[in-house]
Amino acid sequence: MQCPGADSLFLRANGNFVCWDDAGSDKVLQAYDPLKRMSRIFSDDGPCSLISKKLAGNTLPFPETCPGCYCLSSRGSPCFNSRMLNVMQVEPSSRCTLECKACATPEERERLPLPSTLSPAVFQKVLKDFSGSGIDIRTFDFSGHGEPLMNPDLWQIVSLARKYYPKAFLSLITNAHGDFELNNVFSGLDQIQFSIDGVDQESYEKYRVGGNFAKAYSYMKSFTGAARSSGSSVRMIWRYILFSHNDNTDQLRKAFEMASETGVHELRFVFTHKGNWSTDITSSEELRSCLIDLEVPSRSIQMDSFKSLRKRQTLSQLLKRSQILHGTARKLWRKVKRSPSLSTIVTSDFYQLYEPELKQTLNLGNKLLRKGRLRDAQALFLHVNRMVQLPVSHNAAYDPEFVYKHLGHSYKLLKNGLNNYKTDASI
Ligand code: SF4
Ligand code: SF4
Repeated sequence: MQCPGADSLFLRANGNFVCWDDAGSDKVLQAYDPLKRMSRIFSDDGPCSLISKKLAGNTLPFPETCPGCYCLSSRGSPCFNSRMLNVMQVEPSSRCTLECKACATPEERERLPLPSTLSPAVFQKVLKDFSGSGIDIRTFDFSGHGEPLMNPDLWQIVSLARKYYPKAFLSLITNAHGDFELNNVFSGLDQIQFSIDGVDQESYEKYRVGGNFAKAYSYMKSFTGAARSSGSSVRMIWRYILFSHNDNTDQLRKAFEMASETGVHELRFVFTHKGNWSTDITSSEELRSCLIDLEVPSRSIQMDSFKSLRKRQTLSQLLKRSQILHGTARKLWRKVKRSPSLSTIVTSDFYQLYEPELKQTLNLGNKLLRKGRLRDAQALFLHVNRMVQLPVSHNAAYDPEFVYKHLGHSYKLLKNGLNNYKTDASI
């Protein structure tokens, strides 16, 4: 098994190192301590090395957290190398003025540990400790659970990374709700991604709740204009998540024209599984066919070379999907509780809707079993079983057999998988 915890680190705005992804981000691997060397997290007896060893032995490092982690994958573990950190994700701020539907709610943000803004002094200590310990860092990714531009010292923080690690790749993702200044371009970034999912206020604010399209577009335009005219080498990407409210042909063509106008290097359309995702555009081929007569230049503006959803069914993707099912089940169950007479219909619809994915996940689990990859199979089966039982477990009067009946063939697959593994999970 593999996860980024073995070769990459996430530095939260409060200076703590935590595990990756939403699931792992509450798991503090090493708290900030001004009196201790922060780089000890990346030593041969530190938490990253331990994660690596556990994964190599097919054991989940944190059994209560890892099954829900988007980053867990079935591939072999990268070797822990105490001299080379692959990515340091740095969260400049955990605050944001927007309320995107898939992100933390204001209440959840309130509960995040303080301080909510990374101080340059804390970051400098981290950099000093790592470079002083001879640890090379390949990439700094300035992003996290908040908006980087909310940190007034953001550009100083980026420059510090460049100063201590002149050869590292520095990348930043922003919602572009900032006041542009020339130093933004010269901080040392190699890449900036502007997250703007729409072509006007109406198509933009449905997902980017509370956002201002004109402000974001103007920041992107100012940045690209200044970077182009100064000959800066920073790569600029307009990142556009496809939803059903921003994916019609006119909107996509307008985005392409606006991207050309701003001078970004790449217009990257991104698929999502969250929220009101696009069902019309599910592959790069479908996307290209909408833009066919615009003669998309292959170099100046590129479509992201993402694979279609169907091609991305690796174990980690399937785990992600089942986690989404888990979330959907939770939501549906809340509805059901409010209206008990609907329970049969809603639950039944839910399983019919996702039956093919569930079946595919279970088939993969059985394939892993046949190949002798028991731990991978265990993680997968337990995850699916937990997900399947979720709507049931909230109501003792509700018959679990009903759910299993609706799983059809998948029920047998799940049952066989769990029996084969001889797990404690009951079915
Ligand atoms: S899989 Fe587990 S150890 Fe790895 S990042 Fe996720 S929570 Fe952390
Ligand atoms: S702009 Fe980014 S940080 Fe802010 S709410 Fe949206 S996704 Fe979250």
